[in-house]
Amino acid sequence: MHDDKAHYAPVNPVPAGLSGRCPRCGEGKLFDGFLALKPSCTNCGLNYDFADSGDGPAVFVIMIVGFIIVGLVLFVELSFQPPIWVHLILWLPLTVVLAGGTLRPLKGLMIALQYRHQAAEGRLDKPDET
Ligand SMILES: [Zn+2]
Repeated sequence: MHDDKAHYAPVNPVPAGLSGRCPRCGEGKLFDGFLALKPSCTNCGLNYDFADSGDGPAVFVIMIVGFIIVGLVLFVELSFQPPIWVHLILWLPLTVVLAGGTLRPLKGLMIALQYRHQAAEGRLDKPDET
């Protein structure tokens, strides 16, 4: 999973992940399309098979965007009491834009952190100890 790291200086996972760059070299692209991953890094050749962020990015998007949207909805409702169609026009598109805009950077960040901390599925024994 993690090949020889001696040739690569440590990459800060936050800017590399948020910008969708390779977690090992910080240069190659991580994504192929909007959320699909490339099979490997185009710069250093790191195999992205280890990358499995699961539902993690979606959970953070729900929490962060939900917090922002619900706060704004409550503020507008309590301050102006607009009709319901104003809420629909304001918050549905804003929710879609914010969720779509944050999902990819958060997925990149989670994969970069997964690589940095060598996170993987739990095992009862390590393969190289047997
Ligand atoms: Zn790379």
